[in-house]
Amino acid sequence: MEIQNPLSLDERIKILTESAKFDVSCSSSGSARSGAKGSIGACHAPGVCHSFTGDGRCVSLLKILMTNKCEFDCLYCINRRSNDVPRAALTPKEFCELVVGFYRRNYIEGVFLSSAVEISPDHTMQLLIDTLIMLRTEYKFRAYIHVKAIPGASMHLIDLAAEYADRMSVNIELPTEASLKLLAPQKKKEMITAPMLRLANIVYENAQEPKYRARRIPAGQTTQMIVGATPDSDGQILRLTEGLYRNFNLKRVYYSAYVPVVENSSLPSLPTDLKRENRLYQADWLLRFYGFTSSELLPVGGNFSLDLDPKSDWAIRNLDRFPIEINTASYEELLRTPGIGVRNAYRIVAARKQSLLTFDSLKKLRVSLPKAVLFITANGEYMGAGDNPDLIRARLAKTNLLTAGKQNDGGYVQTSLFDEGTISGEL
Ligand code: SF4
Repeated sequence: MEIQNPLSLDERIKILTESAKFDVSCSSSGSARSGAKGSIGACHAPGVCHSFTGDGRCVSLLKILMTNKCEFDCLYCINRRSNDVPRAALTPKEFCELVVGFYRRNYIEGVFLSSAVEISPDHTMQLLIDTLIMLRTEYKFRAYIHVKAIPGASMHLIDLAAEYADRMSVNIELPTEASLKLLAPQKKKEMITAPMLRLANIVYENAQEPKYRARRIPAGQTTQMIVGATPDSDGQILRLTEGLYRNFNLKRVYYSAYVPVVENSSLPSLPTDLKRENRLYQADWLLRFYGFTSSELLPVGGNFSLDLDPKSDWAIRNLDRFPIEINTASYEELLRTPGIGVRNAYRIVAARKQSLLTFDSLKKLRVSLPKAVLFITANGEYMGAGDNPDLIRARLAKTNLLTAGKQNDGGYVQTSLFDEGTISGEL
């Protein structure tokens, strides 16, 4: 059916890019697909799609909704049905032309294909699939495509999208069922968990298949959570995150500090501090790569300190484990020490096989000494602040300030296709 669009293409693109910018679950890559004769684009495993603005949001994918006309009324969302905003839509062909035009001009390296829920979840999912298949087959587009799974869409449509997409995501949006009920009443928990589980199974099935077979969603699945729209604590968010990684085999959980875009008495009037989002990303890293559990980092009702990173905070609460001797501590103990990352822990373990390590050797290994010295001895030498938590906290806070670099000034700025110079008016 021909979609009637009274607005010009430029006007619609402007509306639809604005409508898409608060979704952060599109970064990263993980696919590997080389170029082919007669096709355009290629995917490289290290991540063709990585690019972040100062506030941490991904911009290098073409991120635009197919339509911002929504049947749902999620209170926090600019596209909610009851919000009085201009509405627009693209046809699959228009979308494909846009992607290929931008790709050829080197503006993008991939696509984030998403949509508000027009008519029904299945109708919208089918629209995304039509576009996806058109891009892959008619336009022979082999670059990275991330497709949003629409909550409530039928499983056979999720399966079909997974045949062509590199990555898919179902946004969990809110950390608890109660919050979902309050702010996104049309979204039921199972509308989100069912497609997530299906995608997890696809990832699992892929792993059993021979490597030469084309993989479905080779870059896996991700999700996004809004932080601060509801009173849910960091501890609750982290528990949920841990469960998502464990039960749904997620590649990444993205956190998006709440930004007020519509007025509603059920929502906070101020944006969430971006430091909170940052602390959750740090904690997420600790869960995935440092062997921490969510309960070690925070009780369920707790929130992270905005002044100290979660690992330092944990170390101060566990001073009886420190200082550790750098020459004899286990790899796991090294990983749990503030200032020592995965690479440094590995380097320390390798280097100490050759000789006893001193603070000078650690400097050469590029260990972040201002932090680490508070928790280690090196060949018996100690340069810390004893076991006074306040003193350690004060020294750590100073270190964090020194190493934090340029701070975001609180302005929620995301790069737009319409920023001066971004597309030079060549649409
Ligand atoms: S379903 Fe909810 S979050 Fe998604 S576009 Fe519609 S109103 Fe926004």
